[in-house]
Amino acid sequence: MKNSELYIHIPFCVKKCDYCDFLSFAADEAAQAEYVHALLTELEFYGGLMKDYRITTVYVGGGTPSWLNEGLMSAVFERVYRHFHVADDAEVTVECNPGTVTARKLAAYKRAGVSRLSVGLQSCDSGELKLLGRIHSYAQFLKTWELAREAGFDNVNVDIISGLPYQTAEKFAVTLQQVIRLRPEHVSAYTLMIEPGTPFYDRYKFDAVKQEAGMQTEFLPTEDEAYRMYKLTQRVLKKAGYVQYEISNYARPGFLCRHNAGYWMRENYLGVGLGASSMIENVRYTNVSDLEAYVELCRKTERLPFSAFAKEEGQRGPAGDWFGSSLHAAAEVLTRMAQMEEYMFLGLRMTEGVARADFERTFGVPAESIYRDVLAELKEKQLLRIAEGRIALTDRGLDLANYCMARFLR
Ligand code: SF4
Repeated sequence: MKNSELYIHIPFCVKKCDYCDFLSFAADEAAQAEYVHALLTELEFYGGLMKDYRITTVYVGGGTPSWLNEGLMSAVFERVYRHFHVADDAEVTVECNPGTVTARKLAAYKRAGVSRLSVGLQSCDSGELKLLGRIHSYAQFLKTWELAREAGFDNVNVDIISGLPYQTAEKFAVTLQQVIRLRPEHVSAYTLMIEPGTPFYDRYKFDAVKQEAGMQTEFLPTEDEAYRMYKLTQRVLKKAGYVQYEISNYARPGFLCRHNAGYWMRENYLGVGLGASSMIENVRYTNVSDLEAYVELCRKTERLPFSAFAKEEGQRGPAGDWFGSSLHAAAEVLTRMAQMEEYMFLGLRMTEGVARADFERTFGVPAESIYRDVLAELKEKQLLRIAEGRIALTDRGLDLANYCMARFLR
């Protein structure tokens, strides 16, 4: 049996945060129920096509999955277990946002086999939470935290963001200290990105350009200050016993997020739900991102006998794609070159880097024969090290990760 991960997208949030460019929006309970009904159809459909795959991780992300009522969430899990071969030791994560979590919901997650929670805190400072447009306070986060532990969740991630407008490294240090005091098993520490199409973009786009150019900024931290925050994160979390295993991800030993590590190691993953992406056997699919279209297409899928799709087995690619369905807005067969590029720039996100033997086993050639010049250049600049059969970024390379990874793109 082959392995695959499963991602399920819940695109609903109580309110859109001012910096967010994820596929998420507010919706009433009737719209949520209609969406979940469509999702159940999609799950059943793909469950039928993925009989040969063992699901190693399930990740319910968003959006704010914890906003769904427990009945809808239980129905999602019931469908997953009924139609997929979920491994006994699968890592099963649900993303939660403070202000939407109740003891009843957490109890329902437990019953459904959820083994891991990922909680969006972002900051412990009430002014920063307000500026970000978050719906919750720090006190509400603490309540969520308490509920999670009481419900028996012993593998919990906390998301935080640095580089916020008006933030200094000293101010960010307070958030870090308050987080480690709780001893979560995992911390995702991101740096704020100013994304087009968000209120933050309208407010801070000129500052973002200045920041990138190393100039004096008005609202955002300067490039130097943002770098200080990144280094502070590394130092504080390391001292508190966390291992940085990816550019933005830290875990206590044994608690790395297997689902995300799977993306960086180019495992198969099936994405289900609005706008979700999949990569199965080096073909990438992306679902439509219009809610009405998605629900309507799922309805049509429902009316078709599933065998009508399965009959096409053996065909690949956008034209006669057995795996795909009308739900896909795009499908792309990755070329061998694209696979190698992804292998390198995703693998190098992880601090342990990539195994040379694994590259050779996957592509039939040593990495050095494809990337001789790039590897030599990055090594010469002390951004990369090749040792004990692995190619990995150095600490300096991690600081300049975007530059290093771009060097592997043709
Ligand atoms: S809660 Fe998360 S997904 Fe929802 S709007 Fe805020 S940042 Fe975006």
